[in-house]
Amino acid sequence: MCGIVGIRDAGGVSFSLYYALFALQHRGQESAGISTFDGVQLYKHKGQGLVAEVFDPALLRGLEGDVGIGHVRYPTTGANKPENAQPFNFLFRDHIISIAHNGNLVNACELRDEYEARGQIFCTTTDTELIAKVITDEMSTSGCIEDAVHRCMRILKGSYSVVLMMDGILYGFRDPLGIKPMCIGKTSQGIVLASESVAVDALGGTFLRDLKPGELVCIDEDGMRAMQIAVSDCRAHCIFEYIYFARADSILDGALVYDVRRNIGGKLHEEAPVNADSICPVPDSGTAYAIGYSKTSHIPFVESLMKNRYMGRTFIMPSQIEREKAVRMKLNPIGDHLKGKSIVLVDDSIVRGTTSRRIINIIRDAGAKEVHVRIGSPAIKAPCYLGVDIPTRQELIASDKNEEEVRGRITANSLHHISLEALVESIGIERKHLCTGCLTGCYPVSITGEQSQPPAIDFLDGTYQTKLELFE
Ligand code: AMP
Repeated sequence: MCGIVGIRDAGGVSFSLYYALFALQHRGQESAGISTFDGVQLYKHKGQGLVAEVFDPALLRGLEGDVGIGHVRYPTTGANKPENAQPFNFLFRDHIISIAHNGNLVNACELRDEYEARGQIFCTTTDTELIAKVITDEMSTSGCIEDAVHRCMRILKGSYSVVLMMDGILYGFRDPLGIKPMCIGKTSQGIVLASESVAVDALGGTFLRDLKPGELVCIDEDGMRAMQIAVSDCRAHCIFEYIYFARADSILDGALVYDVRRNIGGKLHEEAPVNADSICPVPDSGTAYAIGYSKTSHIPFVESLMKNRYMGRTFIMPSQIEREKAVRMKLNPIGDHLKGKSIVLVDDSIVRGTTSRRIINIIRDAGAKEVHVRIGSPAIKAPCYLGVDIPTRQELIASDKNEEEVRGRITANSLHHISLEALVESIGIERKHLCTGCLTGCYPVSITGEQSQPPAIDFLDGTYQTKLELFE
């Protein structure tokens, strides 16, 4: 769970990278970083914190050049270390390289062991450094970045969307199953690669297309070249991007996330109608779903929980009592909307179940008569190994409980999760092209101890179909 961006723009890139990262802040709040290149040297800055905390105008003015990449990193437990902030910058022979990555490799340990057995050293615990090692390893023999990316696609197992800058040429590539998103946009003088289309919107640019799974693009002063390196009959786009992770205003692999969520809300009503006085979203993740449920059911959409948007991620409370208080500070119930009312509470997902239980308590304390919970994802049954922070089975409330047991735990009057069929239909992408590992426990890549159905991948050896897409 990270956000990446790469920009080439004749008018300079540091401020554009900053705005793009700002638009991708939801994908990671632990650290932020930018590297730029001015034709001679690399400029870089990264740090712990939000984009607006890490950068200021003076710093950005110092990041010179017409090409650069940026990254926001999601906090995962145990890895909150300054050295893990990206992009990573390094020299290899005469090349100046910077790289940033979104995703998770499932064979990282084996690859790392292999490299260490050969005496290689690592400075961080990230997959990104490993990807850099694979690239330089191959370049040391072939000298060619295309071959290096080809090798990445052969040996890396898992999800990876990558932006890479080498000597001022910008590259982007996406794993052969397209698990994590990445798109291409254009601005008046430049080309943008980004995790989500909202980053292109933030720059006043035009969304061009998604990067294809298994594709490498190369952007220099002449424009963009695209090469298909690996192909598969099946893709495996992360379904959780649509459910929760991506911004509602992003278009991912052809589907506008807001509309997907609104469609799911409508189907939630069809699958589990209820007589109630109002539909209340859990802000902000449940809003589009609740609007869909309200439209289809003709029950009014009434916001009855107000979110304090200034809580920030630093509001970490040491004790349970303080944590309960913190939830009250973050979400304030509107008593007049809830007293004596029967409420349909709509949210995107239940992971551990603690959030739903707390929110239901708040709504009942404010006087609601009944709380019927409707959830925009099927029950989350299994961990994610491919880049979403979905924890172990022991922590997942639905891994060993049926819907009725979960309902009891969260103290709802009724509970319904959307069916997988309705979810897939709402996204509008065939099920065989979606990764549903967290919902089904069956993954599109082999994972030790887990069930999997990896699709066949063909590698287009030495037959890159190169086409030039010039700036207009
Ligand atoms: P809980 O069931 O207490 O773990 O909280 C679930 C809520 O947290 C969901 O309704 C989402 O809005 C949000 N959420 C879902 N997945 C994640 C995640 N991987 N990281 C952070 N928040 C999440």
